[in-house]
Amino acid sequence: MAIELHPECRRFINQQDGVVARPQALELGLGAEFLKNRIRYGEWKRLQRGVYATHSGRPSREAQLWAAMLRAGPDAVLSHQTAAERQGLLKQPSSLIHISVPEARNPSRHGKIPGVVIHRSDVIVSTRYPGGTLPCTRIEDTVLDLIKVSKSFDAKYNWICLAIGGRLTTAERILDALAKRKRFPARREAELMLGYAAEGILSWLERQWAEGVERQHGFPTARRQVKVRQGTTSKYLDNLYEDYRVCVELDGKAAHPEEERRFDEARDRWNLAHGKVVTMRYQVPDLRDQEHRCEKAAEMAVVLRDHGSAVGGPCEDPRCQERFAEFRIRISESAERSRVPLSRPQSVAIASSGLPFVS
Ligand SMILES: [Zn+2]
Repeated sequence: MAIELHPECRRFINQQDGVVARPQALELGLGAEFLKNRIRYGEWKRLQRGVYATHSGRPSREAQLWAAMLRAGPDAVLSHQTAAERQGLLKQPSSLIHISVPEARNPSRHGKIPGVVIHRSDVIVSTRYPGGTLPCTRIEDTVLDLIKVSKSFDAKYNWICLAIGGRLTTAERILDALAKRKRFPARREAELMLGYAAEGILSWLERQWAEGVERQHGFPTARRQVKVRQGTTSKYLDNLYEDYRVCVELDGKAAHPEEERRFDEARDRWNLAHGKVVTMRYQVPDLRDQEHRCEKAAEMAVVLRDHGSAVGGPCEDPRCQERFAEFRIRISESAERSRVPLSRPQSVAIASSGLPFVS
């Protein structure tokens, strides 16, 4: 027989996705005997110690989260991977539920909480997300917490790319949150990453270009994600070396459908015709290790020299110096054969103060 609860009592429990903690139930006037019988007759289900689903069906994800939170206590917030799941950084639910509590509290002291990882930090006391029903760390702190627990630079940077690339926050706001943390083990590394992100470098591939090719070989810094007009529409160029009229487009997708490739080619022709901008395109395999990045740098040195002035040079790797020298010889030989002068193209008619189609 289904037990009808008082409407007010039902409303309260519904706000917690049908989950109630024992002290709450007692406060709502449901006696200890009543609770015991609901469990005994299988009408309610125990989800955590002293926390019940007020039905016998399979608990939803929300109900599981509520159960873990109610078990962890009143100051708890969802954090780390579980906050990431709630905030759209992760597509799949995290296998373990991550919860943060103030340092003075230790919800696991009476036994481990099944399926839950408890983090203890005083930062969350001041950063607890005010809205919503299930309390969660703010997105900026979720990112910082995840950077803290990630091992590699790539893994750490990926959280920043997901949050900022997904337009959930900005580099500036994460830096603000970082400044408020007295202790942060990877602070300098995080600041470097956020500097990249603020520049518009929001993927592994873009970072390899900016750092492994551009910076290490002394090229000028490109303008990133430059909005350009193409007829009636607007597009973004990944890296524009405006003074050289050279653009570098990076494509991180694993597969590149034929239709998309044709679209890209049409776009590159448009850039060439209307802005006299030459487009170079690179994919993940092109920049997969330093050897490949050095090779693209040697190629880029020639392209930039042909479109303006000689810039950049080999990095510290001795093989890179050989490659640069080799590239220069190969290019000048082929130029000699085809009698194409290696000088700046005739684009003086366009004002040097900027490209006509760049916003
Ligand atoms: Zn190099």
